[in-house]
Formats: sequence, structure tokens, C-alpha cells
Amino acid sequence: MSPTHLLVMDVDSTLTSTEGIDLLADLAGRGPQVAAVTARAMAGELDFAASLHERVACLRGLPQAGLQEAAAMVRLTPGARELVAAAHAQGWAVAAVSGGFVQMVAPLAADLGLDFYRANTLEVSDAVLTGRVVGPVVDRAAKETALREWAGVLGVPLERTVAIGDGANDLDMMAAAGLSIAFGGKPAVVAAADHAIDGSLAKALPLLAAAASA
Ligand SMILES: [Mg+2]
Repeated sequence: MSPTHLLVMDVDSTLTSTEGIDLLADLAGRGPQVAAVTARAMAGELDFAASLHERVACLRGLPQAGLQEAAAMVRLTPGARELVAAAHAQGWAVAAVSGGFVQMVAPLAADLGLDFYRANTLEVSDAVLTGRVVGPVVDRAAKETALREWAGVLGVPLERTVAIGDGANDLDMMAAAGLSIAFGGKPAVVAAADHAIDGSLAKALPLLAAAASA
């Protein structure tokens, strides 16, 4: 049976309580450098792509094995597994889109049985990270594109899509979705969203049920 609805979630600080780049930076011994770039990005001094490139450059030389190590340190947000299971049980497709890294999102997607996922790819050469990403950057616009593409593939109209996120990068996909939910959101995201929740993703369950019966 084809899905009736589509749920798309951001990953870092939405589907997971961890931030992938911070886990990798700690393993690489570059936590403070990455935090400094993040602070400049938050202050509006860098756009997302520039901050991504600068932060990934800090990871140069990290052994590839660190990717598995970091992936094992990812922690699901409370209620995440329950939300995905409930959405699937109701005949929804569930997807994750991330400005983080596919090497960390793919194991998560497999664990949760997600239908789609998309994220940036860290380049690996000679078993170490090169400090670069490969392919197009998954940024704010790409997150909206992913939601639209997946809805198109499934034949699910945009009115029957739900987007959940916490950051500025999530605003465009949230605007495109039929229903938008801020999760532990930054003030601008809370202001723009149809609903705002925090603490547990299970709080989205009644909102999804309402969307399904609308
Ligand atoms: Mg996030």
C-alpha cells in the first residue's frame, strides 16, 4: 500500500539529541575550533555552506573508523522511535534530511527503518577524512527540495506532508509542508511553525493524528 502521508524530520537536535559535527569534532580533538565556527554562524557572520565547509575542514585527518565511532555515540531524542513506529503503523512514509553527514545519518535511518534520508557526504581518502564534503551541499533550500521530491515520488500531495525541525535551515521545508512543527525550536522557528513542542517527539503524535483525519 502506498503511503498516505509523509513525515520529514531534521536530524541534529530534532530526531537526535546529539549534533553529529560536535561528536566528530570531539573525536578529532577539534571541539573548540568547531564550536568557534558554529558561534560565528549563529551570529550571522557565515552562511550555512561556508560554516559547513569551515567545520568539515576541522575534521581533516580524522581516521575513517571515527565515523563509526561517532555514529555509535548518536542518541535518539526521547519519543523518536515511538513517533516513527506510530507514523509507519498509520501508513505514513518517514524521512530524515540533515545538514549533517550521511555517514552518521545512514545507520540511524537503517535502525529506524526510514523510507528516505539525505545528508552531506564527508569525503574519505586513504581511510582518513579529507576535510571536504562531496557533492551538492544539503542546506536550507536542499531540505525543502528533498521534501518536495519525496512527496512527488510517493504521490503524496504537499498538504499531506509534515515537517519537524529546530533550526533556521528547517524553515523552508517547514513552510512547504502542509503542517510544520518546531521541536525545541529556535525562536524564529517557533514563530514560523504551526505548532511548537519540546522534550519528547511523542508530543507530535496527536498532531499527526489530527493531520491524518483532516
Ligand atoms: Mg537541527
